[in-house]
Amino acid sequence: MSIVVMKFGGTSVEDPAAITRTAGIVAGRLALGKRPVVVVSALAKVTDQLLRAATAAASGDRTGALAISSRLRCRHRDTAMALVKDSAELVTLIDQKFDSLDEVLRGLAAILELTPRISDLVSSYGERISSRIVAAAFRERGMDAAHVDARDVIVTDSQFGRAIPQDSIIEKRAAENLRPLIDQGKVPVMGGFIASNEDGITTTLGRGGSDFTGALVGGALAASAIEIWTDVDGIMTCDPRVCPDALRVKVISFEEAAELAYFGAKVLHPATILPAVKKNIPVLVLNSKNPSCEGTRIISLAPHCKSPFKSIAVKKKLSIIDVVASRMLMTHGYLSEIFAIFDKHQCPVDMVSTSEVSVSLTVDSNDKLPLIAADLGKLADVKYEGKKALICLVGEDIRGQNGMAAQVFGAIRHINVRMISQGASEINMSFMIEEEDADEAVRSLHAAFFQNPDPLVFDVEAHKTQLVAPNS
Ligand code: ADP
Ligand code: ASP
Ligand code: MG
Repeated sequence: MSIVVMKFGGTSVEDPAAITRTAGIVAGRLALGKRPVVVVSALAKVTDQLLRAATAAASGDRTGALAISSRLRCRHRDTAMALVKDSAELVTLIDQKFDSLDEVLRGLAAILELTPRISDLVSSYGERISSRIVAAAFRERGMDAAHVDARDVIVTDSQFGRAIPQDSIIEKRAAENLRPLIDQGKVPVMGGFIASNEDGITTTLGRGGSDFTGALVGGALAASAIEIWTDVDGIMTCDPRVCPDALRVKVISFEEAAELAYFGAKVLHPATILPAVKKNIPVLVLNSKNPSCEGTRIISLAPHCKSPFKSIAVKKKLSIIDVVASRMLMTHGYLSEIFAIFDKHQCPVDMVSTSEVSVSLTVDSNDKLPLIAADLGKLADVKYEGKKALICLVGEDIRGQNGMAAQVFGAIRHINVRMISQGASEINMSFMIEEEDADEAVRSLHAAFFQNPDPLVFDVEAHKTQLVAPNS
């Protein structure tokens, strides 16, 4: 039995037309004899708006918060009514969900405090409601779809905001809650992103986490493929919003895709790859607006590529922390003391650079920075600066290619580089610049390295069309 997990992102379920297209794509897989399990995000932008409502409520703006909720209620009701003829039951369900969301928002406005636990609860409504609408729309279109509450399947620890999945429990829950439906020929439809801890309290897998849900479900069911349906043709040579010449990468390794996702290629959540790697399940990134495009195939061993790089990722909103301690002169145990502080604040470090008297580290800009700096200040002099961006070039054996650094930094010679990391990984070269220079750096690097793309790995046909497009 060929189970395929199909994850549809926010733009693939943003309105009735998108949901109808999505239903067609799933029906197409059924027609091929596949057994789809569908994971859906919230309707596009809903999670942002829910979080905005929560923040507004907790800062005392009860009316503003309830106004956001009311607009969302209308959008979901309208979407449901456009998709389902006898929609009364579905609309009542949507109303019940929004009534309980409004209760939470009123509570927040009364207590004026937003904890990560409540933030997860509020943001969970997006996927809880979208999955109901999509399941009903599929049934309306003749598919035997069964809604499954993702919180009954995806079990995590209690790190609200970015909870860690418990693989063995998920496997058991998938066997109990999904497998029987698949065996009966039904199409399970569940929300991504949301989960629950072992006490049944709602958690989330972090922003963009629906991809991760798709991979976890795929891993738990030993699916034959995990399909990530989004709004671009696949993993591209860089973010197509930054550089319209971006090319589709036809095939990429798990390792390269993970590196790109971690270093900012939003098209895939960084944790997505791991469950797939564990069971060697191919991941495909596909475009729901262009379903006939073959997308990107992520597999354990990608073919050898003649081009030096596969793709360029950018991670913005980073900070550099400089720790300067002339007295300590890199004494034994010094670095471990510094890292212990980042560990205490559960703050991951992206890049590190050391000299005899100083250490520079880059982290996501976040509200813990003043506390981290205060703790580091007990050891040394500390400075931190925000608005930085990390550019990461990913390719095969970068470490082994002579002159690569000269070519990279030659291409961006007009841009000031603050930190460099090369050699830690065979497949990644990264450097830190001012955020305002990031888009220009990507365009310059893209122009320098993707002039003669290897046709085995990149969609060069689309490239040719792009080149003739201005005159056509
Ligand atoms: P979804 O809602 O389907 O999960 P996302 O918005 O999370 O979609 O991810 C898709 C977006 O990722 C694209 O619209 C694109 O702008 C962005 N993106 C960033 N880097 C890349 C890249 N290297 N390849 C493709 N898309 C990228
Ligand atoms: N809806 C969630 C978000 O916007 C999860 C996802 O779409 O992957 O972050
Ligand atoms: Mg996403």
